[in-house]
Amino acid sequence: MTIMRTLCAAALLTAGVSLTAAAPPHVDRIFVNARIWTGDEARPEAEALAISGDRIVAVGSAAEAKALAAADTVVVDLGGRRVVPGFNDAHLHFPGPPVNEIDLAGADSLAELQGRLRDYAKAHPAATWVLGRGWGYSAFPGGKPDKKYLDEVVSDRLVYLSERDGHMGLANSRALAIAGITRATPDPPNGRIVRDPGGEPTGELQEAAQDLVGRHIPSSTFDETYAAFRQHIDEAASYGLTSVQNASWSPTDQRLAERALAEGALTLRFRFAVPILPKEGGAPEGHVLKTPLTPADLANYRELRDTFRGPLLTYGAIKGFVDGTVDARTAAMFEPYVGAGGTGIPFWDQADLNATVALYDREGFQVLLHAVGDKAIHMALDAYEYAAKTNGTSGRRHRIEHVEVPALADLPRFGRLGVLAVTQPMFANPDATTLGNFAVLLGPARAAHADSFTLFDDAGAVQAFGSDWPVFTNEPLKAIYCAVTRMTPEGTPAGGWYPLGRVSVEAALRHYTRDAAYASFDEAIKGTLSPGKLADLVVLSDDILGVPPARILKTRVLLTVMGGKDTYRADDLR
Ligand SMILES: [Zn+2]
Repeated sequence: MTIMRTLCAAALLTAGVSLTAAAPPHVDRIFVNARIWTGDEARPEAEALAISGDRIVAVGSAAEAKALAAADTVVVDLGGRRVVPGFNDAHLHFPGPPVNEIDLAGADSLAELQGRLRDYAKAHPAATWVLGRGWGYSAFPGGKPDKKYLDEVVSDRLVYLSERDGHMGLANSRALAIAGITRATPDPPNGRIVRDPGGEPTGELQEAAQDLVGRHIPSSTFDETYAAFRQHIDEAASYGLTSVQNASWSPTDQRLAERALAEGALTLRFRFAVPILPKEGGAPEGHVLKTPLTPADLANYRELRDTFRGPLLTYGAIKGFVDGTVDARTAAMFEPYVGAGGTGIPFWDQADLNATVALYDREGFQVLLHAVGDKAIHMALDAYEYAAKTNGTSGRRHRIEHVEVPALADLPRFGRLGVLAVTQPMFANPDATTLGNFAVLLGPARAAHADSFTLFDDAGAVQAFGSDWPVFTNEPLKAIYCAVTRMTPEGTPAGGWYPLGRVSVEAALRHYTRDAAYASFDEAIKGTLSPGKLADLVVLSDDILGVPPARILKTRVLLTVMGGKDTYRADDLR
């Protein structure tokens, strides 16, 4: 193997420097005796890698890398361990949950959920509000959440528990009372107050109805939020993440990222997508633009994009929602939900969506549209097609987020229009909620190709993986296990849930690295391990490309390097 060097002869000659006189970059660290999956088709595997500053300067054999070493270069023998590019989560939501909430993830029975609520309430006697997140429908008898289950445990204080997708929540009676929600309260625009057959609110609030209670919950102080943010970015680094694409943004998020940047504590590269905010006051008349982008908004978005040019903080994307989720029956479908009826709530009419997407497209922004149901996905594709045709633009790399239940006839449009599918492997985790609610509502014909990651690969689309954290864990290794097996961590169902949707470990790695970098226009600087790229890489305890899939779950991140600096190091790394 020959070593590739970043020093480019043409550049040196242009600068008037002779090649013989040029000093090679000082190599700070060399990793040798590694099994490097580079993601670079020109050199898929290598055994050594050299770093200078924040960049990779060489990828090749140990002898070649060592030949670059200076007297003070650190040489690290990795003992044959697997190295992959730093993981890039293409869709998640920092700053993440406050650290003072009940974590209900994995509470699959009413007893478990009530137990965690009871324990937390007892441990926090001074909390006026008892808050939590992460429940699934399967935790409740008959899949029906009800305030009575919360009242049984805590009736003298305010309780609000968000569902794991964050699109709905469950309030106890006292929280409903303080929000003034009674049987006479109408559903707000884009929201639903779930009611029992007698018309009494059950305590479940969907989509915009959550604000009725949410506006009474005191918000955390900035310092509390910053502490949680720091904790969450450090966790993410320990999972091997070096880049994240935030599918949300607020001025507070901006302050958090800027403070961490100023303190040298930003251990992840961030790309923020600024939200498309629905117009106040409900549905527009006729074809009035739903999001009247003011000159001030646009100036602000442009300024963010032009000010933060990386490599730690970048902008340039806009995020909107076309629908909700299957579990809440708010995903917009062509055909009704099985058993429950209804076809979901599209948040836009097509003309408004087209006009809004075209507006941002014309301004050079990349658009991210959350679309889960086949109808919403179809609408998003139509809007992207309209924008390209109307503006005469191309190469915007617009994306559909989640894209869980596409119409099969729409798949070729992704490649043709250059629209990216940004999917979440953990959405295919066949747990009780997926099998008992999601798949049942879709029925077998649609469930058979829901969250099926091979569909997009086979259709020639670029597919980037993300977690939608904090909806699900943002541990890429757990997600890769799920994408490869379509089984729960316990190994059920044997052979995988609709196993045709399984992808190879290599494909999963590509979606988490190279393709995720493409999704943020960063493929020239990251996503693969090759000379000139940012030194973002991960050392794993096991070779996930060679071990049985179950072993991927036991694989640990030993070292995370971002821009040449260690952002996580396991205690037992030699
Ligand atoms: Zn999301």
